[in-house]
Amino acid sequence: MRKTLIALAAALLATPTLADTLVSNVNGIQVGPDGKLQHFSALLIGDDGKVVRTFAVGEPLSELAADAIDGRGRTLLPGLIDAHGHVLSLGFSALQLDLTGTSSLDDLKQRLRAYAAAHPDARWIVGRGWNQELWPVKVYPTAADLDSVVGDRPVVLERVDGHALVANGAAIKAAGVTAATPAPSGGRIENGLFVDAAMELINKAVPAPTPAELDQALAKAQEILLSYGITGVGSMSTSLGDWNAMKRAGDAGRLQVRLMVYADELKLLPEVPRPTPWLYGDRLRLVGIKFYADGALGSRGAWLKQPYADGPESRGLQFHSDAEMLSLADQAASRGFQVATHAIGDAANAQVIDVYEQLARKYPGDRRWRIEHFQIADPADIPRLAPAGIIASMQPTHQTSDRLMAEKRLGPDRLAGAYAWQTVLRSGARLAFGSDFPVESPNPFPGLAAAISRQDMSGQPPGGWLPGERLSFPQALDAFTRGAAYASFAEDKIGTLEPGKYADFIIVDRDPTKVDAQALARTEVLETWVGGRKVWERAPVSAPERGK
Ligand SMILES: [Zn+2]
Repeated sequence: MRKTLIALAAALLATPTLADTLVSNVNGIQVGPDGKLQHFSALLIGDDGKVVRTFAVGEPLSELAADAIDGRGRTLLPGLIDAHGHVLSLGFSALQLDLTGTSSLDDLKQRLRAYAAAHPDARWIVGRGWNQELWPVKVYPTAADLDSVVGDRPVVLERVDGHALVANGAAIKAAGVTAATPAPSGGRIENGLFVDAAMELINKAVPAPTPAELDQALAKAQEILLSYGITGVGSMSTSLGDWNAMKRAGDAGRLQVRLMVYADELKLLPEVPRPTPWLYGDRLRLVGIKFYADGALGSRGAWLKQPYADGPESRGLQFHSDAEMLSLADQAASRGFQVATHAIGDAANAQVIDVYEQLARKYPGDRRWRIEHFQIADPADIPRLAPAGIIASMQPTHQTSDRLMAEKRLGPDRLAGAYAWQTVLRSGARLAFGSDFPVESPNPFPGLAAAISRQDMSGQPPGGWLPGERLSFPQALDAFTRGAAYASFAEDKIGTLEPGKYADFIIVDRDPTKVDAQALARTEVLETWVGGRKVWERAPVSAPERGK
């Protein structure tokens, strides 16, 4: 009797109302709780923007009065979630002068001239992405080079790796730097080039973005993310200015992408002393705090247990003593924040695991301690993740970008725990995937492809790098959907299309289960829906002109 009533109630609940939307005739694919792919042919969405139900392939549709949309057989996936990105930086990097791929110093100058002419109101011209290694004459640009193009206002152009910048005369003057200014330790200055620790001398003079500039950057970032099918982001190292821009967008109804925010260390505590509830129709929540345990592998800042293979005098940078790291994480955890810590090297990862093990004893319960990147782990430390409830938040495209550099830095004998996705999963730990945009492109499809192949976009290296760490497609999709939602306490709202969760989904131009990794990497998003509403659509390609 009870069962019948429940079934009847379920049937009534599932009956479309006038406001419901039925998206039918789709090749729906998602990962179920058993880790296997589920296939469905239609999706019924309620007027609250949440999924009423999906329809199995071949199941008759209850047609009724739903607003019907014909999916024309195209492939539909849950909206992808990037567990680790830098939202405002993405927007700014798209709005600032882009110097990636410059082919020569002249090319850089030409792009600078064009940008300056197009942006007469920009107080400072800020750009990034040049790499003199790609030029015929592999010489760093100088202040004089920039002065020959723009002399009337400050110009600061960062190198592609973020470890050097070149400034023009106006920028150097505005920063109060003279020929007598010494380079700080860990830094170098030559002819307007500021390296590593010396960059701060110039960067501190760059005016902070105005609220209007932040709003513009957030809008740009959302547009880019939606175009790649990203409907949710773990927003890392969020500043107070970023947070206020996100709230302004929420107040104005301009938030589309769901942002699960991690504050930049303890800097937001005076204004946001506790995690917030979900705001703006579950579009925004400050859930955690992000810390750093070390630097990056490329600049030999990753903190290793043994010296660098290609720099035997150094083990990298330990940012905090064990006691400091514990105290920082505890200050966040004691206030109810989720703790996420950047750790790249095996020593940094071991330190953070130690800290989390202690905090897991102090704060029993569902805390979901996160390690960001978890790039180089001692294989002996990987089995320690699951028992302490630690999530590995990893970025598959870092593996394809870094592999040659990682081989140099670590040597052949320390790669067993490098970018070890399959080992992490087999150990029973949870995995969440992302891109670390704008360090890498936010496009999740090259990430999915790297995850299943351990190869880059051009198929290198043949057979994949340490191919034992490849994931199956369901495992990879899981980490970009359910895993990333779980990693931010959002799995009751997003990550899968099932009753009661938001109808956040995308329509793509191919079936990712039927193509090889290189074709998967080139998947294009056609439509992006958030909360049951289409918020982005690829502009139709106009038909090629006939004749002539
Ligand atoms: Zn990051």
